[in-house]
Amino acid sequence: MTPAQEIARRRTFAIISHPDAGKTTLTEKFLLYGNAIHLAGTVTARKSQRATTSDWMELEKQRGISISSTVLQFDYQGYAVNLLDTPGHKDFSEDTYRVLTAVDAALMVIDAAKGIEPQTRKLFEVCKRRGVPVFTFMNKCDRPTLNPIDLLDELERVLGLTPCAVTWPLGNGPGFRGVYDRRTKEVHLFERTPHGAYRAPVNVTGLTDPVVRDRLDDYTFDQVSEQIEILDGASAPFNLADVQAGKQTPVFFGSAVNNFGIQILLEGFLKNSIPPTTRSSVSITVPGAPAPTLAREIPVTYEKFSAFVFKIQANMDPKHRDRIAFVRICSGKFTRDMSVVHQRTGRTVRLSSSHRLFGQERETVDVAWPGDVIGLVGHDAFGIGDTLTEDRTIAYDEIPRFPSEVFTYISNPNSGDSKKYRAGIEQLLQEGVVQSFQPRNAPPGATLLAAVGVLQFEVVQFRLKSEYNAESRLEATPWTLLRWLEPHPALKDTSTLIVASGVSFGVDKFDQPIVLFPNDWTLRYFMDKNPELKLHELPIEQ
Ligand code: GDP
Repeated sequence: MTPAQEIARRRTFAIISHPDAGKTTLTEKFLLYGNAIHLAGTVTARKSQRATTSDWMELEKQRGISISSTVLQFDYQGYAVNLLDTPGHKDFSEDTYRVLTAVDAALMVIDAAKGIEPQTRKLFEVCKRRGVPVFTFMNKCDRPTLNPIDLLDELERVLGLTPCAVTWPLGNGPGFRGVYDRRTKEVHLFERTPHGAYRAPVNVTGLTDPVVRDRLDDYTFDQVSEQIEILDGASAPFNLADVQAGKQTPVFFGSAVNNFGIQILLEGFLKNSIPPTTRSSVSITVPGAPAPTLAREIPVTYEKFSAFVFKIQANMDPKHRDRIAFVRICSGKFTRDMSVVHQRTGRTVRLSSSHRLFGQERETVDVAWPGDVIGLVGHDAFGIGDTLTEDRTIAYDEIPRFPSEVFTYISNPNSGDSKKYRAGIEQLLQEGVVQSFQPRNAPPGATLLAAVGVLQFEVVQFRLKSEYNAESRLEATPWTLLRWLEPHPALKDTSTLIVASGVSFGVDKFDQPIVLFPNDWTLRYFMDKNPELKLHELPIEQ
């Protein structure tokens, strides 16, 4: 196969959903189709009481949530699929957002009884900002659902997506009889069997075909006929270019737990989704070069290797106490043992320990292509967002930053035993589990941690204990908002500024000035009284 063919058959995507919509179940069914069934248990093992194999899974079991993102790779009908699992709990959204920078498309799973839920909406916004194509699966059609026409309307109204129903449900809840494929005019009949088996699709000329008519009661028949008439008459026709531009979303209906409608979904998705495409390199000054290289698009077929780190995870498995950098390949061919430049440090590094990960399983990767995600072990200098490349003029800046919403001080209660605590905190900060800041007047030895959700703090404490055997203490802080300050002479002596009580100044890890506010009111007061100072929600680019 040529490199272009290898790239064209790759599909790298994530499933986005609100907790409980059926993401895990759907992932497991996809793996069945990918013949990865012998390992499919690793996905659901999280939720079962099966003996766990890592500290991570121990925490996951205790909390019943999914924390670590996993990359699942399988082949299906000639496609090489990279499915990036995303943590579903709201407190892990920061991690999930980063995963979404590494995908080319997203599959949005919606519980058809509930419609669009808050987490789905937040994750969708990230996809939208990046122009990522989104496909929609309306799950749990075997249960009473909302009116499917209303579900489509909601996609348009709430998310601004033009829906295009590819399949359509025939009834719902106890009266669910199957789905109608609008492209082929086939009906896939749903049989309630314990193992999710269903009858092969029947070719029909339309809904009035006697085979289908026999299966539907009069009410469902009338309702579905009317709905399909509305769809055929009033909805947007399928438009591949709009789908790939992230404007139109193909919609499929089915039931993940019954393995119904899943194959149509998987095949429709793989066929109409997009292979890896160009990524933007930012402007960069290469040492010794007369001028900076301008920002430009790097074609996916460019022969030199380039990739970026979108996730770092240490100590995933107690048997391998090491650190994995998850890398998304953007151009060129990866071969094990190749030498690349680590753009941030300018050092040349050899990539010898490369892995494909499947749940807790690891397998050495010798060759990989754009679109693939691989895990690199043994490079402590790699950080989130770093570029690895054979071409020094490429630098990606793909990782979005999100405003922190919760803050806490963390300190070491055992002053005599600070080495392990320090090592642990440093590692976790480098992984980007939480962010850290140094406010003026912080209690001695305390670091201010900031996150999108409080569960991230619990993970810090849990991991300090289980991986570094280090105790830690959290202490509440009065702040709920943080802003970066643009440099200004007035900041030289902040005591001259008019601020409400509880407001504190400090710096981030790059020594950029920040200011912390207890609430919205104190923030607005600060802006009113100090109009010359410019505040930013996110770090100011350097
Ligand atoms: P996740 O939190 O999005 O990963 O959701 P899960 O895949 O764990 O599913 C949440 C619950 O919904 C589980 O109890 C599943 O068995 C159930 N579930 C998933 N798909 C379906 C479906 O198609 N029909 C019904 N009735 N239940 C489903």
